[in-house]
Amino acid sequence: HDAKASTRGLRVFDPTVATEDPRRLALATELRTAVHEGHLEVHVQPQAEVATGRVVSVEALVRWTHPQLGRVGPDEFIPVAERSGLIGPLTTLVLDRSLAAVAAWRAAGTDLSVAVNLSTRSLHDTDLVDEVQRLLRRHGVPADRLTLEVTEGSVMADPARTISVLHRLRDLGCLLSVDDFGTGYSSLSYLKKLPVHEVKIDQSFVTGLRRGGEDVAIVRAIVDLGGHLGLTVVAEGVEDQATWDLLADTGCDLVQGWHLARPMATDALLPWLQQRERTAPHRPALRAL
Ligand code: C2E
Ligand code: MG
Ligand code: MG
Ligand code: MG
Repeated sequence: HDAKASTRGLRVFDPTVATEDPRRLALATELRTAVHEGHLEVHVQPQAEVATGRVVSVEALVRWTHPQLGRVGPDEFIPVAERSGLIGPLTTLVLDRSLAAVAAWRAAGTDLSVAVNLSTRSLHDTDLVDEVQRLLRRHGVPADRLTLEVTEGSVMADPARTISVLHRLRDLGCLLSVDDFGTGYSSLSYLKKLPVHEVKIDQSFVTGLRRGGEDVAIVRAIVDLGGHLGLTVVAEGVEDQATWDLLADTGCDLVQGWHLARPMATDALLPWLQQRERTAPHRPALRAL
């Protein structure tokens, strides 16, 4: 038991190593199996027009149940997937399930768009554009029914490369959305250079709307900017009617959040829509009409 060995011993009991690494390791190992065996689920969360309450699209959100740890959130396992070389197959899986769902809803007479999140690494993947095109064809879904969500941060990580991928996706006919807008470090002029159709106001600003103050000014500024640039503006994290009404006042286009619906299994969406039509056919924010 020499000094060297006890130094090594100390490192082993470093609290960060002891608590974080085994979990990360367990996540990476099981995630590989889950991705390759297709044991991930795609849930969808509806988006509605602010003024009419009409549901026009959904966002796809990946879900994973780890065999020992239970439900693990995408905020935790997406970074693991990025570091473990699993983000490519994971993104393919989410795109495939999402487009299959859109195709099934179309076959049932309901025309909805789907928004799929792309991580930083996916935007550097040269196969991504071909993969998107292949999956659109396979499911027979028009390209303009697919929106791809990117964050400012992932664009800024390597602007030149990312912007060329975004242009190729747009050339396919897909729509592009800037997620978590307002939290990144990009200047507003950057928005003009990106071939985007939509901005999603980050939930941190939306949540603060009811308290008044700065968040109201920020949300108004984003809605105005989006309007002037011809972009659709979506507010995410809308948890109550008061927030919905405030957004209607600003002229924001679409809302998404628990007040409308929580993310749900793809099979649950049409029953939910039908139920909603029976019980609340129109929920317009009156002040917007
Ligand atoms: P995001 O794209 O900004 O998604 C919005 C998050 O807010 C989702 O969390 C959603 O469940 C949650 N949310 C929706 N409505 C409300 C609300 O009214 N209140 C509150 N407090 N939260 C709400 P989720 O599903 O845990 O996803 C977290 C993040 O993980 C996403 O943020 C996205 O960045 C990432 N993510 C999710 N699915 C995928 C995916 O398939 N691929 C990639 N690359 N990233 C994904
Ligand atoms: Mg998103
Ligand atoms: Mg977001
Ligand atoms: Mg987010």
